[in-house]
Amino acid sequence: NVMIRLSGVGKRYDDGTVAVQDLDLEVLEGEMVVLVGPSGCGKSTTLKMINRLIEPSTGTIEIDGRDVTTADPVELRRGIGYVIQQIGLFPHQKIITNVMTVPLLYGESKATARARATELLELVGLDPALHAERYPHQLSGGQRQRVGVARALAADPPVLLMDEPFGAVDPVVRVRLQEEFLRLQRDLGKTVVMVTHDIDEAVRMGHRVAVFAEGGRLAQYGTPAELLAHP
Ligand code: ADP
Ligand code: ADP
Repeated sequence: NVMIRLSGVGKRYDDGTVAVQDLDLEVLEGEMVVLVGPSGCGKSTTLKMINRLIEPSTGTIEIDGRDVTTADPVELRRGIGYVIQQIGLFPHQKIITNVMTVPLLYGESKATARARATELLELVGLDPALHAERYPHQLSGGQRQRVGVARALAADPPVLLMDEPFGAVDPVVRVRLQEEFLRLQRDLGKTVVMVTHDIDEAVRMGHRVAVFAEGGRLAQYGTPAELLAHP
């Protein structure tokens, strides 16, 4: 079952920069796809087109068979969790409150939202007894990224988009986060598209890896084994 389908997608920014060209990409339900390539080759632009933070200039994007350009953006984003490097937690709110924001936004009662947020913190490996009442600056970089993942999962979206989610984390913590995230992804059956410039991370995490090249073109798309066999 194809969850995300990009057909002939291109993006030319207003200043004339061509960020993405002629991109065809299919992501299956429950699949973890990693977009990799040098800086400036259109990975983030592609991700932002999928959740419609940016409009494609050409082509079509479908999620679960629905065209994202005609979908209601609020409805669309409810089905998509978005994790970025600068996750932007509210600095003056406790961790629990940061995660409760999303269920509250969707009309849950305070008690239900708190229970859900507590469950999510546990899910991403943060002990609520230790961390729920702390503020973002009292957490390490890796712990803050976990909170970002918890918040992205709060609405239980079938799709997660992640842009360099582990980029700001030191290498040892990073490998642990990668492994834990993979387990979480598999257990929850989420469809994930993740951007990285780190080829090792891409090969370690991707069920399939999309290699972007200069000019926003897709150079290769396949399993890590396929890419290693035909570099
Ligand atoms: P990546 O994520 O692979 O680093 P991006 O998608 O961020 O690449 O950028 C692709 C290209 O588009 C780059 O040349 C970048 O400078 C350009 N770009 C990104 N955002 C904008 C923008 N808002 N306006 C104009 N050009 C942009
Ligand atoms: P990391 O390598 O994951 O970035 P840090 O060195 O930043 O880890 O943090 C190590 C530990 O110190 C973490 O458990 C974190 O919760 C705690 N910590 C970091 N900053 C503060 C702070 N300002 N107040 C209290 N605890 C902190």
